[in-house]
Amino acid sequence: MSKIPFITKEKAEEIASAFPTPYHVYDEKGISENADRVSSAFSWNPGYREYFAVKAMPTPAVLKLLKSHGCGADCASMAELLLAEKCGFSGSEIMFSSNNTPDEEFVKAYDLGAIINLDDITHIDVLNRLCGIPETICCRYNPGGIYSVSNHIMDNPGDAKYGMTRPQIFEAFARLKALGAKKFGIHAFLASNTLTDYYYPQLAEQLFTLARDLQYETGAQVAFINLSGGVGVNYQPDGYVNDILKIGEGVRQAYEKILLPAGMTDVAVFTEMGRFMLAPYGHLITRAIREKHIYKEYIGVDASACDLMRPAIYGAYHHITVLGKEDAVHDHVYDVAGSLCENNDKFAIDRSLPEIETGDLLCVHDTGAHGRAMGYNYNGKLRSGEVLLHPDGTFSVIRRRETVDDYFATIIW
Ligand SMILES: *Cc1c(COP(=O)(O)O)cnc(C)c1O
Repeated sequence: MSKIPFITKEKAEEIASAFPTPYHVYDEKGISENADRVSSAFSWNPGYREYFAVKAMPTPAVLKLLKSHGCGADCASMAELLLAEKCGFSGSEIMFSSNNTPDEEFVKAYDLGAIINLDDITHIDVLNRLCGIPETICCRYNPGGIYSVSNHIMDNPGDAKYGMTRPQIFEAFARLKALGAKKFGIHAFLASNTLTDYYYPQLAEQLFTLARDLQYETGAQVAFINLSGGVGVNYQPDGYVNDILKIGEGVRQAYEKILLPAGMTDVAVFTEMGRFMLAPYGHLITRAIREKHIYKEYIGVDASACDLMRPAIYGAYHHITVLGKEDAVHDHVYDVAGSLCENNDKFAIDRSLPEIETGDLLCVHDTGAHGRAMGYNYNGKLRSGEVLLHPDGTFSVIRRRETVDDYFATIIW
């Protein structure tokens, strides 16, 4: 099987003639349709909101596009808060889900009227001292142990630095209530990039049960449950693809099973997806500039791990299409490499691909989340820019590439 790019070779070359490779290109139509599917999956819940995890793609044109489809913004740093503010998000459209939070970030989030999600019980005193406790407040929960879905180990919350233990979250709710909080939220992020329709429903069941117990024991009114991120996308060309409509339906069933019988009928469900919102709707377009024949066959491209870090740090698979050769036989085996002086700077290892000639454009799939955003400047490599491809086939450059002046800008000579 193969993944079909949302861009043709002709369009990619047309963009490249105005805006040379490498560049990330994003599919406005795909993003919009997916965002609408997400809303409809949770439309049974009147208070539902997706808070897009800004770290996955901190690019204003796309943040505003998501906003136009009803999304809020999930931030975890000063710069992300400022970015959300500049994009027009305000008040409860901003979720501040940070950890190890510096004072000034609490103050900024408070001043914006953002919903503050406390990562730790000790943060109650910090926030109270800095700003006071807002009426609406959220606490992040960590159940510890190992997290599995249908006997399959998904992740290890007991090893994660995030969230409060069960006894702590009970104590936190009681103290926050005494300090004036009126509406409470619960947040948990227990597994990343899950490829199953059961992750959210199972997490929802766990958090709804906790919400019921917390409301019963502390009298605190639970106003929302934040299922956070973790809904995955399949980076491989075959295998399961999550069905957000089934996921939303699974959460609805958990809601009806646990919250409604407890008389909790107006609890809002929030999500904070990054990857699922954008990953499939981004491609890194890079040109083959060199070939090398030693113990293996190499194709050198003009992008590097500085533009897309996931293969280098996680050994992550990203599918590659050689544009214009979509139907050619995959009878060559290549390592596709960037130019960093780091041997892990490879977009593909031992990958079967059509014969690649210098000048060919390669499309690296699924770069719309945690792609450009994770870029860095090692070896003095300058990060690529970003292009938004509109539904009518026109495009806009939404971030220019970095220049040497950007690289020098922080240096005191
Ligand atoms: C990273 C992150 C997300 C988004 O995760 P995805 O895997 O991209 O869905 C959501 N919430 C928090 C707090 C995060 O740190």
